[in-house]
This record gives sequence, C-alpha cells and structure tokens, in this order.
Amino acid sequence: MSTVLPVMEAFYTVQGEGLFAGHSAYFIRLGGCDVGCTWCDVKESWEMDRHPKFEVAAVVEEALRYPARIVVVTGGEPLMH
Ligand code: SF4
Repeated sequence: MSTVLPVMEAFYTVQGEGLFAGHSAYFIRLGGCDVGCTWCDVKESWEMDRHPKFEVAAVVEEALRYPARIVVVTGGEPLMH
C-alpha cells in the first residue's frame, strides 16, 4: 500500500452542491483516472504521473491549516488510490 498520493490541486472554498452546499470545505483533487467519461471537464487529471506526489501525512497536515470541517477528496478517480 502506497503512502503517497498524486495531488493535482488542493484548495479551501465553499462546497457548491449536495447536502453540505454553502459550507466551507477543503478540496483535494487527486491525479489519475481510468474511467474516461466523454463529458469529463478535468481531463488534465487523467494521467497520474503528471501530478506531484505527497505523503498522505503531508496532505492531511496541509488540510488542517484551514478551518473547514469538511474535506472533499475528488479527482480524477480517487478510488484508484
Ligand atoms: S475525472 Fe471524473 S468525470 Fe472525468 S473521466 Fe474521471 S470519473 Fe469521469
């Protein structure tokens, strides 16, 4: 099991949809996707090796710098990891 993740981007914002719409959230977009949806608007996420890898502990430590109580792990296809 790997302890590093390819991170395309991570940022603090407001959740715009779903049950937690309007709540502050920290988004972590992981690189890598093998699904290939034709409607995909983040095709630049597909190639895992295009994104820098970080230790999971470092990703968590960065997230903890923000006051959000919600973390959204997205992609790409985060379940690849
Ligand atoms: S990143 Fe999401 S929308 Fe794009 S191909 Fe992968 S699963 Fe589909």
